[in-house]
Amino acid sequence: AAEPPPAEDLSADDVFIAVKTTKKFHQSRLNLLLDTWISRNAQQTYIFTDGEDEELKKKVGSRAINTNCSAAHSRQALSCKMAVEYDKFIESGKKWFCHVDDDNYMNVRTLVKHLSQYPHTQDMYIGKPSLDRPIEATERFGDNKMKPVNFWFATGGAGFCVSRGLALKMSPWASGGHFMNTAEKIRLPDDCTVGYIIESVLKVPLTRSNLFHSHLENLQQVSRSEIHKQITLSYGMFENKSNIISLKGAFTVEEDPSRFRSVHCLLYPDTPWCPPQVAF
Ligand code: UDP
Ligand code: MN
Repeated sequence: AAEPPPAEDLSADDVFIAVKTTKKFHQSRLNLLLDTWISRNAQQTYIFTDGEDEELKKKVGSRAINTNCSAAHSRQALSCKMAVEYDKFIESGKKWFCHVDDDNYMNVRTLVKHLSQYPHTQDMYIGKPSLDRPIEATERFGDNKMKPVNFWFATGGAGFCVSRGLALKMSPWASGGHFMNTAEKIRLPDDCTVGYIIESVLKVPLTRSNLFHSHLENLQQVSRSEIHKQITLSYGMFENKSNIISLKGAFTVEEDPSRFRSVHCLLYPDTPWCPPQVAF
């Protein structure tokens, strides 16, 4: 189906893209993103990490942000990073906040086109739920009281976006140290906490999009002719098997295990390191 007409003029510069990473993945994951989609969108992409890296600073300058959060894969460390992403977005003044993991390919052209159908002043939370039902959580209050809550959340591993209008309303639960307190209150990871604030506290429903993809779904189902329409892609493991999109492209699976270099050559064939355009 064709996208509805734009609600406002939107350019890539209006979007703040936060990439969550950790020092041990700078070589193995982040460099691939820097070589591919980030190279075309350097001005709007901010890297949130947990360690100093001179090489990274040389490449992206002040858009590499050391959150000083712990490098552990703990709930606290991850919500600490999301809190910094949120604060930097608010500070940036941009119209849309989008989060991705360091194993996501972001097709920024499609993203901008997709977001432009919604006014950024409206309350918008867009992404893909990771579960087929709302998550069941428990709110804990200071006086030892607890209350069960159900809400939908967009899985961080597929990427998600929040309009500025909505992000500003999240401030009492998300800005400064509040995000970490909120995450502790429901004892859930960062992406669930975002869903909790938006759906459960602010009562704004998640807008589901099938254009966001994590490696928790079968990526073989994304067909070549549809790749340019997707907003995010991923790679990784799913049910103990390697999970990548199936694309006969510029590079073999051995040369390009994630398929991101081949995707990039499909979307940006004028890239210097892409082979001359032939019908793959
Ligand atoms: N990550 C992190 N700190 C860690 C481990 C992972 O910030 O100690 C980030 C990682 O860079 C990625 C995201 O968390 O952006 C998800 O990690 P991963 O893909 O390894 O796990 P998944 O949850 O997808 O299985
Ligand atoms: Mn992952």
